[in-house]
Amino acid sequence: MKTEVLEVTEKSDNILMRAAELIRGGALVGIPTETVYGLGANALDGEACLNIFKAKGRPADNPLIVHIARAEDAESIAYTNELYYKLADRFMPGPLTVIMPKKDIIPDSVTAGLDSVAVRCPEHKIANKLIKLSGVPIAAPSANRSGMPSPTTAQHVYKDMDGIIPMILDGGACEVGVESTVISITDNSITVLRPGRVTVEMLSEVCDNISVSSAVTEELKPGEKALSPGMKYKHYAPKADLYLIDDRYIDFVSFTKEKHKTEKCVIMCYDEEKEQYENETLMPVGGKNDVKEQTKRLFNILRSADDMGAEKIYAHLPDKTGEALAIYNRMIRACAHRILGGENG
Ligand code: AMP
Ligand code: MG
Repeated sequence: MKTEVLEVTEKSDNILMRAAELIRGGALVGIPTETVYGLGANALDGEACLNIFKAKGRPADNPLIVHIARAEDAESIAYTNELYYKLADRFMPGPLTVIMPKKDIIPDSVTAGLDSVAVRCPEHKIANKLIKLSGVPIAAPSANRSGMPSPTTAQHVYKDMDGIIPMILDGGACEVGVESTVISITDNSITVLRPGRVTVEMLSEVCDNISVSSAVTEELKPGEKALSPGMKYKHYAPKADLYLIDDRYIDFVSFTKEKHKTEKCVIMCYDEEKEQYENETLMPVGGKNDVKEQTKRLFNILRSADDMGAEKIYAHLPDKTGEALAIYNRMIRACAHRILGGENG
């Protein structure tokens, strides 16, 4: 299959109509969103959604997120409640996914047999318009091959999906850079299953009763059941071994300079540390306090390090608060818990 990559804006009506036609016809399309690129299919077409799993090499027990154009469109696919609309008022459209009991119209292949469905209303103008033009909700996981870092540019999608899907819409680099915050809700409580741009602190302004799944910051214990099936897989893994350095205990710059003398490694330093290095291979992550920029660059850096054939990557151990929790969560999955410094050894 030939894969077309088409540059688009929200005004590219002809191309977006063609993409909508493909979706309605059961094909897969690479779609820009504000978080990462998605691999979209008609969420009401069980067969089309099974092809998402094939294209990604995704385990069949890991359910998909269903994307809608307006918060109230959740009514046709899920049993909503008052809390959902409170969250929608504040955070939709935007990078928040809400898990609720599913309606029968959603095929089992989308939810991996679960009786709940994950719903998100993207803010990205192209994604939102494509859903409206398609006239159906769009099931879309991240558009990478399973186990690769999520794609944040159309070129990343092309690298993973060339020859596998007919069309990729190139809407430029994604603004957020990591996947949406995923929460499950009851009438009066929220459980955070995956951290993202919408933080625990922001959610607690809407609901007092909020908890964070232990899988956000820790590995599952043997035999423990994941609330969100995606959490149990080794995710976002670059080919190089990623090491996280706790810079409260280890001087990041001198440690990595020493390592660089003998190892084929990439150093993910802060922008302000750059001038302390000489000819080392640096991939600056953004300013020390600019967590938004660090989030935006994260997956691109992990992919670039692989493209260079790096054997090791050294990065700062991120904080677990605010927006940094999203980086922490992705990094500990990518590093297989290789943390250096302090009680970590
Ligand atoms: P992705 O689409 O690749 O960003 O992954 C979607 C994430 O949402 C995965 O971690 C899934 O396991 C999770 N997810 C989707 N639907 C559900 C559901 N019904 N219940 C729990 N987790 C879900
Ligand atoms: Mg994914």
